[in-house]
Amino acid sequence: MGCVQAVLAGKVGIALGVANHRSLAWSIAQAWHNAGARVLIGYQGERFKKNIDELLPELGPDSLAFPCDVASDQELDRFFTELASKVGYLDFLLHSIAYAPREALEGRLLDTGRAAFNTALDVSVYSLIGLAQRAAPLLRKGGSLLTLTYYGSQKVVPHYNVMGVAKAALEATVRYLAFDLGPQGIRVNAISAGPVNTLAARGIPGFTEMLRYAAQRSPLQRNVSLPELGAVATFLVSEAASAITGQVVFADCGYSIMGG
Ligand code: NAP
Repeated sequence: MGCVQAVLAGKVGIALGVANHRSLAWSIAQAWHNAGARVLIGYQGERFKKNIDELLPELGPDSLAFPCDVASDQELDRFFTELASKVGYLDFLLHSIAYAPREALEGRLLDTGRAAFNTALDVSVYSLIGLAQRAAPLLRKGGSLLTLTYYGSQKVVPHYNVMGVAKAALEATVRYLAFDLGPQGIRVNAISAGPVNTLAARGIPGFTEMLRYAAQRSPLQRNVSLPELGAVATFLVSEAASAITGQVVFADCGYSIMGG
């Protein structure tokens, strides 16, 4: 690691939402580590422990990983109690978590049932509030929260359905949390990522077609790469972004500016 890149030296961050080596949270964790931060990992549960155990050494000897199902308040409490006892403070937290029942991503939004809607909004949106409540006392001044969103919050993307509604709510949540936490010197932002082939993305019917279409239509004529998302995430939690809060920053090779 060259000292020019060590913009996060002395900082401690946690990335929640690592499922495997393709996860956006994993590329962001790697980028933060390469920029000099101590990086901890949060993952949903036992199902991913093996993947996490294999990946963790890449983040250096001071990294740690903890399970946390963000759909449970007790789990969130246990997670933060453990975190506080292990590290004492945080400088940044990544929320890279979304879920909707498969049936809600097929057909029409019109047919979405109450239970599927509630699950999608609970796991994909309320979780950021639940994490922010518990992270705020641990975050040092200048710290920040970061989440991941998608353009389907603003425009209709076929099949994205209830996740589009959830991402719109997530982006509004970013703005309100930025207002609430601003006086404490804590920033809150979202990266709106172009499509990337991950486990969650493959749950969206027609995702391969979405990838191809976005690459064809983007001004840069390609899709965003994982290292590029890591670089944006490093910038947003760094001192260089100290005046940026409540924003949705697009990292999509320009796709979202196109009108047709
Ligand atoms: P991913 O690797 O599948 O990561 C999603 C993570 O959320 C998984 O680790 C998943 O675990 C976790 N999660 C779901 N429910 C959870 C819960 N109750 N508690 C804790 N964790 C839970 O997919 P990804 O594409 O990197 O997604 C990360 C974020 O980026 C999501 O918010 C997604 O909407 C956003 N995003 C993705 C793209 C894209 O094209 N890939 C584009 C823009 C934005 P499980 O596997 O157990 O559900």
